[in-house]
Amino acid sequence: MTVVDEIKARLDLAEVVGRVVQLNKAGRNFKGLCPFHSEKTPSFFIFPDSQNWHCFGCGKGGDVFSFVMEYEGWNFRMALEELGRQAGVEVQKRTPLQIQATQENDHLRAALEAAAAYYHTLLRSAPQARRARAYLKQRGFTVETIKRFRLGYSLNSWDAMRAALRGQGFNLDALVKAGLLVQKEPGKTYDRFRDRIMIPIRDRRGRVIAFGARVLNPEDQPKYLNSPQTPLFDKSRVLFGLDGASRAIHQEDAVIIVEGYMDVMIPYQAGYHNVVAPMGTALTETHLKLLQQLTKNFILALDPDAAGVQATLRSLDTARETLDRQWDAVFNPRGLVGFESQLDADIRVVLLPEGVDPDELILADRAAWQELLATAQPIVRFYFQQLLQQENPAEPKGKARIVDAMLPLLRDISNSIERESYAQEIAMRLKINPQMLLDRLRAHERVEKVRRHRAAATTVPDQSTQPTELGAHTLRLLLQHPQLLEPVDIALVELEQPPLRDEDFALENRLIWESWLAVLVDPTLSLTELLPLTTAEKITRWLQMPPGKEEVAALKRDLVRTILTIRERQLHQEFTRVQSLVLESQSQGDLKIQRHAGALNQLHLRLREVQRALNPRGLEERKGKRNGKREN
Ligand SMILES: [Zn+2]
Repeated sequence: MTVVDEIKARLDLAEVVGRVVQLNKAGRNFKGLCPFHSEKTPSFFIFPDSQNWHCFGCGKGGDVFSFVMEYEGWNFRMALEELGRQAGVEVQKRTPLQIQATQENDHLRAALEAAAAYYHTLLRSAPQARRARAYLKQRGFTVETIKRFRLGYSLNSWDAMRAALRGQGFNLDALVKAGLLVQKEPGKTYDRFRDRIMIPIRDRRGRVIAFGARVLNPEDQPKYLNSPQTPLFDKSRVLFGLDGASRAIHQEDAVIIVEGYMDVMIPYQAGYHNVVAPMGTALTETHLKLLQQLTKNFILALDPDAAGVQATLRSLDTARETLDRQWDAVFNPRGLVGFESQLDADIRVVLLPEGVDPDELILADRAAWQELLATAQPIVRFYFQQLLQQENPAEPKGKARIVDAMLPLLRDISNSIERESYAQEIAMRLKINPQMLLDRLRAHERVEKVRRHRAAATTVPDQSTQPTELGAHTLRLLLQHPQLLEPVDIALVELEQPPLRDEDFALENRLIWESWLAVLVDPTLSLTELLPLTTAEKITRWLQMPPGKEEVAALKRDLVRTILTIRERQLHQEFTRVQSLVLESQSQGDLKIQRHAGALNQLHLRLREVQRALNPRGLEERKGKRNGKREN
């Protein structure tokens, strides 16, 4: 019995569906109003005998997996994990180490959940929270919205939260690890959040993993205080509001990305549920990849006052000067254009009216928000217009500066027809010869090609090496030479690959990597203390080894190659796994087949990308040969 079968056998479809759809008995079966199309008489059926569902109105149907994927907007992996958890089926065999890590994380989650409940109760009823309640009311929040996002209030005290949670049995260590308490020296802790409006930040499954906290007293700094990096919370990979937005993003096939918590919650209240915000940082590639599972249509709603537009234009300058991609954030035009191509996505930008936040706009006029979104423009056109306002397009110097700024963007558009038509458009608007612009564009492309070849790996690591050994090799080098992390990330991004990330490491290596990152963020932590004893001993041995004589450049190449090889192996494994799923569902005439086939296609493309990054020249040579195999 496969894991999937086991989960299906243990779960009752009617019960899972019944949590979100009102079901009524219809003979042996159940019926209800279809959650996937709007209807007044029920045509959505559950067949308990076969554990299938079908809607006779819109034609959708399937099993418990396809239901939660469709309803929640989850991918197969998430559905597997979540349903596995509900059914009590172990989806992946885990090591004792992972089980221990999960137990610890569960404990941290419980602490955060308890804190959220505590803060929420204070906001709802404590006399000290009167000002907080008044503030939210004045910002337009209804009681329903406050409940929906479980907003809270932290007392103006150094130890009230600590006392309350310790009273519930949570130990100090967990409260520090969860980011609720600050520990400056051993034995001395205090409440991190004081006299603030507390906004729980949740993961995709709706579990509280951190808090955002807004001041009430205008003299307090900073205006927004977030939880620090914890084992559960990495702000570069979390989007505020995504847990409640996934379904709407999936169904409306579009996501609106705003800049702040309020800008998510007020649109939600007004009925716009497909809105998310990064956590006070730039939008990262991880963010976009996360959203890409739900939609390929992105709208960035930028605040014109804030750093927003100016910062984006500044990074455009940097990009132009160095010919380098910004690696830490794709919230700049070049990164976005590159990403748009890579994802085959549609990324549009809209400027909010001067001095008006999305929440204010919606409160003033609900239709204005809709109209504004309709004016969103493709990135290339958006930045061109920004440049026209910054430079004087009537002067030769102004024209030259605009062209210089636009070339890297144009080059990153992968579709040649689209690229050339933008070039024409720009040439016309600047009153210059379109051919000249196209020639310069081609020259640019050649420079980039040469640069990529040079950066590419020269040899490929031994094929027989296991990913875990490669992971350990990567970590050993990084621990010995921490200064290599940044250049390695930059090199990866230049190869159009994501920077080093959690997924590159498995099992014990993942734990080492995550702990090491925590130490980089907070140097007061000790790496060996964060790790289980046997792992700590291994690390100590690594650090005692005399570092090799290789030069930094050689080490960097080694690391990049190793990381790419890890990714190649992982994708290969995943590919084989999904391939067997496709075969399985083919033989059973399963409805999931299309989804699997789509996933397979995606994996194939990603595999190709990694292989191209590993060996760009090799791939080009192979283009001609139909059945070319890797030679090295
Ligand atoms: Zn339907």
